Amino acid sequence: RIIVSLDFPEIDRAVEFVKQLDPQRCRLKVGKELFTNSGPLIIERLKEAGFDIFLDLKFHDIPTTVARACRVAAGLGVWMIDVHAMGGSNMLISAREAIDSSNHKPLLVAVTVLTSMSNDDLKQIGITPPMNDMVLKLALISDEAGIDGVVCSAQEARMLRTRTNPAFCLVTPGIRPAESAKQDQNRAVTPEDAILAGSNYLVIGRPIIEAKDPLKALEAIEKEVNAALVQLGARD
Ligand code: C5P
Repeated sequence: RIIVSLDFPEIDRAVEFVKQLDPQRCRLKVGKELFTNSGPLIIERLKEAGFDIFLDLKFHDIPTTVARACRVAAGLGVWMIDVHAMGGSNMLISAREAIDSSNHKPLLVAVTVLTSMSNDDLKQIGITPPMNDMVLKLALISDEAGIDGVVCSAQEARMLRTRTNPAFCLVTPGIRPAESAKQDQNRAVTPEDAILAGSNYLVIGRPIIEAKDPLKALEAIEKEVNAALVQLGARD
């Protein structure tokens, strides 16, 4: 359930950090910073170490460009990739078709509204519906386009669970253990609440990679996640 976000500026630091992690216990996310520095080489190194990789490049462009980028990303053999739902239905459908026609088919998810954004940020760029409405709208067009799931805040997970298909995957960044600083995440949720709200995967960066003892931080989050899963099981 836990995806550790490898937000490092270069490959050596990322590879060194990963040595303390176990592919049976977490997946890894490679984002814009690390991929811009290291390119496909980092993906190769992490795959060799046995990890599932979420390549988080959030493609957002015209449909043809996004489709081509998705096909190349799929060819890297990653587990999950993402696009921005704000690219609209045609772009989402093109991305879907590109993955469907690839030999390797990663999960394809769409970013709804970044977890760093608040209602005020939406208003500032001319989006007047409240956050939940906007996230729901983007999730519904993603679901209709056959996208496998969305990236959203766990604050919206409960609502999306009741409105999208049961297999729809909810990937939630902006996860902060109760004692952690929120930093630039405006819609932060604890690991426990995220699981209880129906999140499938928790993306966690700084609370782990910047912790004094990253492994201890990961284990504490893992414990919280497992306890929440037991609670969920008991409820069903
Ligand atoms: O350090 P932190 O846990 O905030 O890292 C969150 C990671 O998830 C970052 O790599 C960020 O780019 C990514 N992300 C996000 N919000 C989204 C999509 C991705 O924070 N909506």
